[in-house]
Amino acid sequence: MTLNKILSNLVVFSYFSQLRPISASFDNGINGFNYDNTLKWISENPLCSGFRQSPISLDRQISSPLVIYPITFHNFDVELQGPVHVTNNGNAVEMDVENTVNGFHPFITGGGLSGVYQVENVHFHWGSNQIRGSEHAVGGQKYDLEMHIVCKNIKFGSLAEARDDPFGIAVMGVLFKEVDTNSLEHPLKPIIDLLPSLTKAGSVSQIAQPLKLSSLLSRLNPKYFYTYRGSLTTPPCSQSVTWLVFEHIQEIPPNSLHQFWRLRDADDLPLVNNFRPLQQLNNRKIFSRNAKRK
Ligand SMILES: [Zn+2]
Repeated sequence: MTLNKILSNLVVFSYFSQLRPISASFDNGINGFNYDNTLKWISENPLCSGFRQSPISLDRQISSPLVIYPITFHNFDVELQGPVHVTNNGNAVEMDVENTVNGFHPFITGGGLSGVYQVENVHFHWGSNQIRGSEHAVGGQKYDLEMHIVCKNIKFGSLAEARDDPFGIAVMGVLFKEVDTNSLEHPLKPIIDLLPSLTKAGSVSQIAQPLKLSSLLSRLNPKYFYTYRGSLTTPPCSQSVTWLVFEHIQEIPPNSLHQFWRLRDADDLPLVNNFRPLQQLNNRKIFSRNAKRK
């Protein structure tokens, strides 16, 4: 075993020991769950069988138009203070969001939210060369990749506290499809360029160049979105999330998805299909913003 290998194992080990309860089995991944059979989540996480679960299928036919203000993005146009860390946590790729260089956190208001929601992390769900891996379906279709921008109501000190409150968390969902043409701008380039260094579960890398959160949304029309009351899409499936899922599908250039499919999970198996299947709507309402208010 080379020194590098020993060191990288130590990094992985320390990451495991921070995140995994001591009793958790490695079979269940670093975070105590995996995607082999998402129905099994219920046995240890009863909330996962609740009536307000996510993701769901979103469609104009089944949504009610809602006249609300657009989402206002604060400090999204300011560079994040470096270094920005990106982690393969064994279940997903996740970027921590800290303060910007002006000393404030990026946050959102509007969009039907009451209150201020501060961005905590950005992470991704994807499929495989067999299955499209967005979590939500939009217009009756699933797409290749879904980015979640997870925001916490500033009334709460941590995400763990916020997830116990029905209005604790807001998540913006952005869906992507891979296209054949190399687009001039690639909104996810800074993150996708890092993926080869994140192959092993537990590995952490940092984005070298300055990054603004707005660059991840550079080609998105944020005026049109669906909003509904749902849950975290991973255990403990807390029903604390106001979802804001954009209708506009962003494009990423060829071979972007391959970079995600090469990642490995905690059992050193391919980290693919890390999406939760669609859940029942039950008696919830889905609203769609159709940009009547500027
Ligand atoms: Zn997610």
